[in-house]
Amino acid sequence: MTSSLATVAYIGATILFILSLGGLSNQETARRGNLYGMIGMSLAVLATVFGPQVTAEGIPMIVGAMLVGAVIGLYAARKVQMTQMPELVALMHSMVGMAAVLVGYATYVDPEASKNLDSAAHAIHAGEIYIGIFIGAVTFSGSVAAFGKLSGRIGGSPLLLPGRHWLNLLGLITVVYFGREFMNAHTVQDGMLPLFIMTAIALLFGIHMVMAIGGADMPVVVSMLNSYSGWAAAATGFMLSNDLLIVIGALVGSSGAILSYIMCNAMNRSFISVIAGGFGTTAAAPKAAGDASAEPVGEVSPILAAETAELLRDAKNVIVVPGYGMAVAQAQHTVFEITKYLREKGVNVRFGIHPVAGRMPGHMNVLLAEAKVPYDIVYEMDELNDDFPDTDVAIVIGANDIVNPAAQDDPTSPIAGMPVLEVWKARTSIVMKRSMASGYAGVDNPLFYKDNNRMLFGDAKKMLDEVLMALKT
Ligand code: NDP
Repeated sequence: MTSSLATVAYIGATILFILSLGGLSNQETARRGNLYGMIGMSLAVLATVFGPQVTAEGIPMIVGAMLVGAVIGLYAARKVQMTQMPELVALMHSMVGMAAVLVGYATYVDPEASKNLDSAAHAIHAGEIYIGIFIGAVTFSGSVAAFGKLSGRIGGSPLLLPGRHWLNLLGLITVVYFGREFMNAHTVQDGMLPLFIMTAIALLFGIHMVMAIGGADMPVVVSMLNSYSGWAAAATGFMLSNDLLIVIGALVGSSGAILSYIMCNAMNRSFISVIAGGFGTTAAAPKAAGDASAEPVGEVSPILAAETAELLRDAKNVIVVPGYGMAVAQAQHTVFEITKYLREKGVNVRFGIHPVAGRMPGHMNVLLAEAKVPYDIVYEMDELNDDFPDTDVAIVIGANDIVNPAAQDDPTSPIAGMPVLEVWKARTSIVMKRSMASGYAGVDNPLFYKDNNRMLFGDAKKMLDEVLMALKT
């Protein structure tokens, strides 16, 4: 493929990626957005593999690597459960980071890469390598730590080292110092030591940054690492002089940054305070999710599936609030069956989605779309919060932190200030979960003890099946 044809293909792929991002911003067009993305990526891969930068001898190696990658990807796509998606995404971000590090080192030791560069161009090239490896290493180790937290292998409570901000500052100064050493190195051997030291600091920095973030703030970290992975890809593009990679990286990096901003707004956090870590932990450190000591104490009023069905049948307005437990139970299809049944009987059923419900941005929307819940009855938190006082039944399915009134009432709570769905303002709220265990943030939930709240204990899918059966009899 000639270089001009490759350029045309790159421009086509870029347009498709922009259309893809546009499509993904709305549920109704998301499928189309994915399709654009897939076509764009196929075009990009073909134009790169058969483009001017790859020699004929390199093609078998690339095809071999792609086959191995495709097999792993297919296996993961079939094997990974919907509840494991956030961890998988974190793991994939880590791979983008690792690729940036490896490409950086490979470019640095490759004499061909800097053969024809004059001194100014050489300095720019060295700068690209240094920054690219730094971003890649932070992304890699940060994403691995996020994977550990999201999969429950590492506890959710923040790790607050004494003088952690000073440690970060010291690390940054050291990275800048060794950056200067690296730029001044005359041989590859001389440059290796500063590069190694910077990589080690960047790896520690990535781990430290994510470990210092408390449970409820993890959504920001997930979107932030998404953004970092984009910048790591852009850095790889600079190192390889690949324009398409630079553009795609910048698209991912900036859209991830916008998502982080949206997530921060959703949680009423400032971006800096989340990155600095340990937000809201001075008064009450969150306990690990499921930790028995995190379980609240007090009287709760249980309810049976048959009674729940009765309340729903008699209701005029119902709001369903899904959370992570719905994903665990895979209850979305039964939720929709119940919704269909109630709507046929004239009940106004709507869904209220909290921006950080579940374990990844858009988690609930994906599940509801999979179950074919019509988009026009799925509302954002802000659109529905004022309607709870006119709601007969608010039914909470496997959600906890996102309906916790302590966020509004208890300034010492680790989730203080986070906007929540005010389900307790409905005539009756019903919380469906298996036990009194806390949610991801590891905090007590006073909702469970409110006079108008009832607890429907059990697996959400099993309980909803019983509710559906009771409704139909
Ligand atoms: P939570 O984690 O607060 O609560 C989920 C609840 O579901 C648990 O209390 C659990 O209780 C219940 N549950 C689990 N399995 C089942 C089941 N099979 N059947 C019924 N219930 C079940 O989830 P929310 O969605 O309310 O809030 C999301 C939390 O995750 C927030 O703190 C958010 O910050 C955080 N987070 C969000 C991310 C995102 O991007 N959206 C990323 C990372 C973290 P029990 O064990 O008693 O059943």
